Order: sequence, then C-alpha cells, then structure tokens
Amino acid sequence: MNNLLIIGSGPAGYTAAIYAARANLSPILIEGPQLGGQLMTTTEVENFPGYPDGVEPFQMMDDLRRQAERFGTKFVSGVVTKVELSQVGYIEGKAETCHKVWVEDTDLYETKSLIIATGASAKYLGIPSEETYRGRGVSACATCDGFFYRKKTVAVVGGGDTACEEAQYLANLCEKVYLIVRKPFLRASQIMQDRVLNHPKIEVLFEHNTLQLTGEGKVQGADLVYRKGEPDEQVHHIAIDGFFLAIGHHPNTQLFRDQLETDQEGYLKVAADSQACIGCPGVFAAGDCCDPRYRQAIVAAGSGCRAALDADKYLKSL
Ligand code: NDP
Repeated sequence: MNNLLIIGSGPAGYTAAIYAARANLSPILIEGPQLGGQLMTTTEVENFPGYPDGVEPFQMMDDLRRQAERFGTKFVSGVVTKVELSQVGYIEGKAETCHKVWVEDTDLYETKSLIIATGASAKYLGIPSEETYRGRGVSACATCDGFFYRKKTVAVVGGGDTACEEAQYLANLCEKVYLIVRKPFLRASQIMQDRVLNHPKIEVLFEHNTLQLTGEGKVQGADLVYRKGEPDEQVHHIAIDGFFLAIGHHPNTQLFRDQLETDQEGYLKVAADSQACIGCPGVFAAGDCCDPRYRQAIVAAGSGCRAALDADKYLKSL
C-alpha cells in the first residue's frame, strides 16, 4: 500500500513530488506519455520566476525532476489506463477503500491518496483534412516540428499567446508565416501582439477560418474563408507547407470524469479552500487539469505544492 501516487510529470506533478517527498510521504510519480508535460512543447520559458534570462523547458523540467528525486520520489514511466477511486476514502485495514491505479493495463498501484496532475492537450479544429494530413504537414507543436519547415511557408491557427508564440518561433525558421485568426482581434497579451504584428515575416489574417487543407500526400495549401456568413464573405487559397494548431487545450481527465466532479469542459473541480477533488476523499488535483483560467506553469507548480500539503494533512488524519 502506497501513501501517495502522483499522476503527471509537468510543473504541478513534480512540485507536488518535491513537497510530498520532503514530508516523508514516499511518493510515486507516474510520468505519463509526455515527460515534462505541455511546457516541453514551448521553446523558452521567460516568465517563470527565478530565471531572469529565461530557461529551456527541458532544463527546467529536468531540474524539477532531479529535485523531486533528491528527496526520494520514485518514478514510474508508463500511461495510466484505468483508475478506480474509493468513494469513502482510505480506511485502515480495509483494502477495498484504497484508490487503485493501473499503468499500461497490467501494473496495479494501490494508494491511500492520489494527486492528479495530468494537464491538458492541444485542441484541433475538427475538419476532416486535419486527420488526413496529421504528421504530413499538420502539427500542434511548433517546437517539436518547426525544424522540418525551415525556409518554407506555414500557417498557425489561433489568436492567443500560444499562437503568437508559435508564429514567432516559426518565423525564425520559415520564409513566411500566416497567422489565421477567426476574430478581428488577437486575444494574446499586448507584448505578444506587438511582436507578431511588427514581425516582417508574419502576416496576420484576421476574420479568417480554415475550410480545408489541400495537397498531394502532404499539406500544400489551405482554403480559407474571410468573414464567413457576411455579405462580403470570400473564399481564397494560400500555398503553405505546414499547418500548426494553437487554439487552446482540453483537460486530460477522461479517466476520472465518471468518478469526480468536473465542469462542462471536463476540468476537475476542487474545493474552494484546497486542492481536494469533489467526490472522493484523499484525491487531489493540481495544474492545468483543474485550471481552465490561469494555465501557467507557475500556477501549476503552486497548486502542486498545495495538493501535496493537502495530501499530507489527509494522510495524517487517517
Ligand atoms: P487561448 O484559449 O488563450 O486562445 C485560443 C485561441 O484560439 C483564441 O484566439 C481562440 O479564438 C482561438 N480558437 C479557439 N477555437 C478555435 C477554432 N475552432 N477556430 C479558430 N480559432 C480558434 O489559448 P492559448 O493556448 O493561446 O493560451 C492558454 C493560456 O496560456 C492563456 O492564459 C495564455 O495567456 C497562456 N500562455 C502564456 C504564454 C506566455 O506567457 N509565455 C504562452 C502560451 C500560453 P477566440 O479568441 O475567437 O476565442
């Protein structure tokens, strides 16, 4: 029987592990499919306090992981495939009241408490050609795939900070970058907007939506519609080699939705004054899986700390 299992290896999971390990809870952290979490899909972290010159995401996540390891966190690599949460919470001597977590369908971990830090994943538009060209010109990660489009022309969809960041990253590699924005304005922070709007290689296409992607075996173009449904609606074509989605995320909470309370989008709900999930005692959430609002690494790390302190208090109360 384990004291504490942590699912997720982003800033929330690793911070929870640091605090839990230092509280002698002997946490086990299941690292999941994307080691380091979503931050690994960005180029540079400029806004995490303590790094005045910015830091590469890999470096930051490696630092966090080593810090968690130093105090005794054990790591398990693999994907959690099934979870059975106890509705009553752990009761000493009653094995059926522990929470059960299966990794890769086969390895069962039983635990008195659990921190869910599974983060969020990129959204796609839902047009059929995204599927057709996935991995052949369609990507949701400029940092991962931008390299393949050096000196080429690409499009980024979205008007938030992610889209602006990805457009700038790609503009450093590519010949030209279109930024396809469905509204007549950007939602990104002012500094990001200024950088994008003043970049000589970036052309912002406001009030445009993507109808379909075209190409022989790989993306070679996109059909866009300008001011869809308006009297001056126009369809036109742009030649591109790559199509990058940056339109937001959905929480990775599918495994828990029938056992814990969530909002309409599936973000886990936590109690107002703690990180305790609603529905099962001894289960806590941290990071983007329960944060539709801030979605920042520093906030995720803070909530990971809170979750570990809450788990410690819960375990002491048993
Ligand atoms: P956001 O939710 O902020 O923005 C999503 C963008 O995608 C919006 O412009 C939205 O349009 C657009 N969009 C959504 N669905 C569609 C669709 N179906 N078709 C076309 N466009 C669509 O997500 P981000 O990932 O950009 O940012 C998430 C959070 O992370 C934010 O709080 C952001 O500030 C933060 N962040 C901070 C960074 C930094 O500080 N370095 C870097 C990256 C993110 P619309 O505006 O019309 O809804």
